[in-house]
Amino acid sequence: MTNLLTPEPNSPSLNPVKRYRPATELVYIDTSATDICGRTGPGSTIRDPYNAASVPIYQTATFKQPSASGSGEYDYSRSGNPTRSHVESHLAKIMHAQRAFVVSSGMSALDVILRLVKAGEAIIAGDDLYGGTNRLLGYLGTHGGVTTHHVDTTDPLRIIEALDPERTRMVLLETPTNPMIKIADIPTIADLVHKHCPRALVVVDNTMMSPYLQRPLDLGADIVYHSGTKYLSGHHDLMAGVIGAKTNAVADQLYHVINATGCGLSPFDSWLLLRGVKTLAVRMEKQQANAVLISDYLIRRGFRVHYPGNPSHPQYALHKSMASGPGAVLSFETGQVEMSERIVEATKLWGISVSFGCVNSLISMPCQMSHASIPAHVRQQRALPEDLIRLCVGIEDPEDLLEDLENALVSAGALPNQPMDL
Ligand SMILES: *Cc1c(COP(=O)(O)O)cnc(C)c1O
Repeated sequence: MTNLLTPEPNSPSLNPVKRYRPATELVYIDTSATDICGRTGPGSTIRDPYNAASVPIYQTATFKQPSASGSGEYDYSRSGNPTRSHVESHLAKIMHAQRAFVVSSGMSALDVILRLVKAGEAIIAGDDLYGGTNRLLGYLGTHGGVTTHHVDTTDPLRIIEALDPERTRMVLLETPTNPMIKIADIPTIADLVHKHCPRALVVVDNTMMSPYLQRPLDLGADIVYHSGTKYLSGHHDLMAGVIGAKTNAVADQLYHVINATGCGLSPFDSWLLLRGVKTLAVRMEKQQANAVLISDYLIRRGFRVHYPGNPSHPQYALHKSMASGPGAVLSFETGQVEMSERIVEATKLWGISVSFGCVNSLISMPCQMSHASIPAHVRQQRALPEDLIRLCVGIEDPEDLLEDLENALVSAGALPNQPMDL
């Protein structure tokens, strides 16, 4: 019965009359847009009788029905909730997706997507993946009968070699990768995969860029997802996952899994996510500008820096062709694990923390923190330097960030104690 009552689709596709530039789209709710059911109104899904400027939080599990046959627009919040629908249609517009879904975390978003792969089928994924992604793919291998082939996704040929037209169901990309900041050529890979293996879906984890800087669906991907916990929320006060689908057919399958498993984002968290999304452009611009200064500083100091904003990055041009900026995550090597530990512990402004995308600057050692779930021998195979330090740059005054970093580098013995020349 619940299924019959479920409003379909839950995150309506939009037909915007006019597209604005990304920073405008983030804050502007197109009240003239008509959703797939012909409904109009703010966000196409909410018709609030009081015209609330901030979307109301529908903190309710159920909705009363007008008749015994149901027929209400919403019936049960696992299946659909107006606050969630509102943020979903807003995000669909921003990601240039046909439809979007918000779920309880980034990993939950990936879990939903991976359920489109059946036992016996195969996935091709990168070799420098987010640690949690690696763990979930491993679980699917031992419990779900789905094999993952890890390849270097910076070389499209490696992917083509690994494609099996009978079995490959998904190609999973991250670009830039984290923490090694390697770039995958989404348009070339999507073209080749769709040509050689039409049944395979190209899926991109776009968390590092956010939809403000990069929109993989425009570049040929079939599904994009983000950890909403990072840039989209921006304040580390929320866990969320965001999925965008290019076609209604794929969106229907994703919605089925979300409704079946019950991982849709709660009304309050949907509201919080929407609030965060509205400031994404200003936060990202500031964080990115700070990151460029930090990267230049570390290069001047002689460190090996990984950041797609450096013209010396081997794939600088490729990244620039896909994204409108380099983002605010970079990593650098010091040559010694103990030295890196001392640097990380000597900073004051930079919080020692996993994650990124928050307004505060963070510092971490991926091999000991976010990527510790990847076994040491696998990290070694994948050339993940144990001394790597990752910086996730926030919106603070860059002079303070540079000063704090310089003090930490000097006190850790990574730099001679010399007068500062920031
Ligand atoms: C954080 C992160 C995830 C997982 O998201 P959660 O919200 O923590 O579940 C997935 N991919 C990347 C690249 C991430 O940084």
